[in-house]
Amino acid sequence: MRKIALSSFLVAIAFATFSQNKITGFTKESADAQRKAEAQFDSHLKASNLDEWMKRLAGRPHHLGSAYGKQNAEFMRDMFKSWGYEAEIETYKVLFPTPTVRLVEMTSPAKFKLKLDEPALKEDATSGQKSEQLPTYNAWSADGDVTGELVFVNYGVPDDYEQLERMGIDVKGKIVIAKYGGSWRGIKPKVAQEHGAIGCLIYSDPKEDGYFQGDVYPKGAFKSSGGAQRGSVQDMPVYPGDPLTPDIGATADAKRIDRKDAANLIKIPVLPISYGDAQPLLAALGGPVAPERWRGALPITYHIGPGPAKVHLKLSFKWDMVDCHNVIAKLKGSELPDEWIIRGNHHDAWVNGASDPISGMVALMEEARAVSELVKTGWKPKRTLVYCAWDGEEPSLIGSTEWVEHHATELQQKTVTYINSDGNGRGFLYAGGSHTLETLMTEVARDVIDPQTGVSVGERLKSVQTINAANAKAKKDILNKKNLSLSALGSGSDYSPFFQHVGIPSLNIGFGGEDDGGEYHSIYDSYDHYKRFKDPKFDYGIALAKVCGRATLRLANSEVLPFEFSSFYKTVNGYVTDLISYTDNLRESTEVENQLIRENRYVQANDPTQKYVAPASKDPVPFLNFSSLQNAMAGLEKASNQFAELQVANPKPNTNLDRLNQILFHAEQKLMISSGLPRRPWYKHTIYAPGFYTGYGVKTIPGVREAIEQRNWKEAQEQIENVAKAIETYTNEVKSANTILMMR
Ligand SMILES: [Zn+2]
Repeated sequence: MRKIALSSFLVAIAFATFSQNKITGFTKESADAQRKAEAQFDSHLKASNLDEWMKRLAGRPHHLGSAYGKQNAEFMRDMFKSWGYEAEIETYKVLFPTPTVRLVEMTSPAKFKLKLDEPALKEDATSGQKSEQLPTYNAWSADGDVTGELVFVNYGVPDDYEQLERMGIDVKGKIVIAKYGGSWRGIKPKVAQEHGAIGCLIYSDPKEDGYFQGDVYPKGAFKSSGGAQRGSVQDMPVYPGDPLTPDIGATADAKRIDRKDAANLIKIPVLPISYGDAQPLLAALGGPVAPERWRGALPITYHIGPGPAKVHLKLSFKWDMVDCHNVIAKLKGSELPDEWIIRGNHHDAWVNGASDPISGMVALMEEARAVSELVKTGWKPKRTLVYCAWDGEEPSLIGSTEWVEHHATELQQKTVTYINSDGNGRGFLYAGGSHTLETLMTEVARDVIDPQTGVSVGERLKSVQTINAANAKAKKDILNKKNLSLSALGSGSDYSPFFQHVGIPSLNIGFGGEDDGGEYHSIYDSYDHYKRFKDPKFDYGIALAKVCGRATLRLANSEVLPFEFSSFYKTVNGYVTDLISYTDNLRESTEVENQLIRENRYVQANDPTQKYVAPASKDPVPFLNFSSLQNAMAGLEKASNQFAELQVANPKPNTNLDRLNQILFHAEQKLMISSGLPRRPWYKHTIYAPGFYTGYGVKTIPGVREAIEQRNWKEAQEQIENVAKAIETYTNEVKSANTILMMR
């Protein structure tokens, strides 16, 4: 009793404090109206709706192209309509492979066939829906029938192959087995293929994903020995979406390329397996014992091979054209209908997908419903709201990518911001995106209460970030920072086409960190699992609706859009500083490394009974000229500081307000380079991209950073000049905004 009374007392105090807090982009009067609308919005949110809709949407498997996926899209469209939205389903025709043959067997030293089957559990009501489930597989694997010696390659990232080279182990003509983790899964077959492997198995080691983490399902939340992780292995860092229609929408009559010409499809067969299936394969490997950091938690000695274990891997797929159903629901703005705030979450899953993606989807639906309740009371959004449910995200962000490619010009003209969510659970706020929106997100996080602790979700995030920071200086920096830090976006959800292909300011928002489990992309990502382990009362689903709802409504109704440039400048300047010191460190380490090689020190330090191949020396690292980029950053600093000062002096200009807002939300597009990044022109943002060899992981200032990592000095210098030019063009936009703010 006491505890309850105390926490509601704290909430009351917090609320009183919040009501005096400023909301950027609003005058005092309009901020009061906004706070009132937000309080009403909150009062309409009902956790029971999330529960009911999750039960319905995750009730049967609903992957891209499935009957139930279509029914879900129709259900959501009808819900949006019933809430007063103009809602429709926009359908694309896309390629989607599903397996017809999956065979893995060890042919020597012993013969046995892998099960490749996730067992149904009586504790999990939907786990037995066999006839509608996609089996465990990696989408976009090549068809293939290969036999070869097996090699264990740790995570299968480039570093691991360098280690193998030192040990004199070559994977050419072999089948590799890699653990999940260390990179996005699609990187593993890509790097294996680059090294000449003929097939790739990916397994979940219990150390990262299984009994080493906690009790396994159904006793606990973690992966049991039969569970396997489905997922895409398309080379998404080249381009996502339908492989046959890069750059254009996959409408029925779109001009398609040949599948063999699709640059984002890998050429070797690849299959995910459970640790139950992997153990006897790994146990049958000989060769050197794996380095300590490669070893997992199976009760075996981890050897690398190659062989004597020999594996036969046979995979065939149906390469069907299927319908991809996006649900698009619009609520027209009362004053600025041609300025759009877009909210999106995907609705397709690998199987039942209660957590990924339905937990985020139902929060989005409840957000849209609560907005419609506000509309009933006479409140109106000034700008147009667009709520989207994407299909085909799991195979490769297909629904969102095709929609963005199809409507690129209109979206670039009209979209103020895209706000994405995906799977959601109990824990801490995470937010990534355009750093021009850091102030907006800081104020939103300040104004939403964490359901478990009674402090704001922003303060709770700050606490966990401070505690987890590496050292005292980093802790102090976080404590002293006024804004929360948005993370930089790589890939892995539907913001990627909006942000990195057409330059629309974007956010990706969710909760998690206290919702561990091993159900990801398995048949056990179910309503039953979610209710026990993820967010049992949907408290964090409601918190997500509050956070995304506030961000949406503030963008929709602000007088001056809440973009600002100081955080952006500081963040990007940090990236530039980091690039310069990275280059200097690389120069020094290369010199030392080359000396060690010259003096034969690696060979002398090695155990002579172990095979060892000394590394080859590398080109020395030249001095790159960063001056154009540094000068561009100095110009941006000046302009963004001036913008901050002018905003205080003149928060709402009397003339050219519309023009100012147009400049503010279009500025991000000036950071795009029309020719795109080297070897992947689909990605056009000069500041943020997924890494070519990390997949989902972000690379900031990717053109420059990856050229340096790949030791391509000429390209690095060219890219420095490109980024400098983009920053200068961007700075000119900030200066135009300043000119308007100077006119009272
Ligand atoms: Zn997802």
